[in-house]
Amino acid sequence: MSELKACPFCGSKDINSGGGDKVVFCFCMDCCATGPGHYAGGDWNTRPEEDRLRATNAELAGALREIGGNAKLSASVVCAPNNAFRDALHEIARKAEVALSKHGGSQ
Ligand SMILES: [Zn+2]
Repeated sequence: MSELKACPFCGSKDINSGGGDKVVFCFCMDCCATGPGHYAGGDWNTRPEEDRLRATNAELAGALREIGGNAKLSASVVCAPNNAFRDALHEIARKAEVALSKHGGSQ
């Protein structure tokens, strides 16, 4: 049987299953959520919305990483009297780093 994913409601990994040789249901030992687990937990482990959100998050994090990197690079070549522009680029790079550290910036 494949490993059961964590509970979609509370995040617990303490998931149990029942139904004999062919698993017919799964339940969370912490919050008591239950779900279908037909044949090796396939349904419990199917999370199309979660998978879509993870893919979207990874795509957006990649774009933000690129924007921050380009802003930092551009700021390094901006000279006086464009200090305000340089400072704005530094601020973009800083905000990108903060957002990535909070929301999936790890590579
Ligand atoms: Zn739970």
